[in-house]
Amino acid sequence: MKLQLRFPSHLHEMPHTAEVILETGARINIDRANVDAVRGELIIDVPRDKVERVAELFREKGVEVRKLMKLIAWDEERCIHCGACISVCPTGVFKFNPSWKVYLEEEKCIRCDVCVKACPLSALACVD
Ligand code: SF4
Ligand code: SF4
Repeated sequence: MKLQLRFPSHLHEMPHTAEVILETGARINIDRANVDAVRGELIIDVPRDKVERVAELFREKGVEVRKLMKLIAWDEERCIHCGACISVCPTGVFKFNPSWKVYLEEEKCIRCDVCVKACPLSALACVD
């Protein structure tokens, strides 16, 4: 399951993610990192059996934690199966089936927003 972490500025330089990994033994994958001098935001992928403990530990450290239940919204009615999203998605979320219809493997999404901008029919949206 994916978690969105927001680190306030006073926590910014602490190694909290490393500490949580050591404390839980969770094999955390960092899908996306948006970090600058004053704040940090990560999207991490956590094994389901560890997600509650990982979220709890980050919260105890003062990190804002949000579970991402939905990653990308696809309006299938609007979609014309042009394949533009397949070309741009860095993680291979979109695929053609044998009938050349697009389908999604949503769990691969890292919410980079690239496909949203590329879709000519505005059939895609990142979900907040
Ligand atoms: S870019 Fe948009 S219209 Fe084209 S296949 Fe993807 S979702 Fe459908
Ligand atoms: S936001 Fe779109 S382009 Fe980015 S990883 Fe998710 S599905 Fe792929």
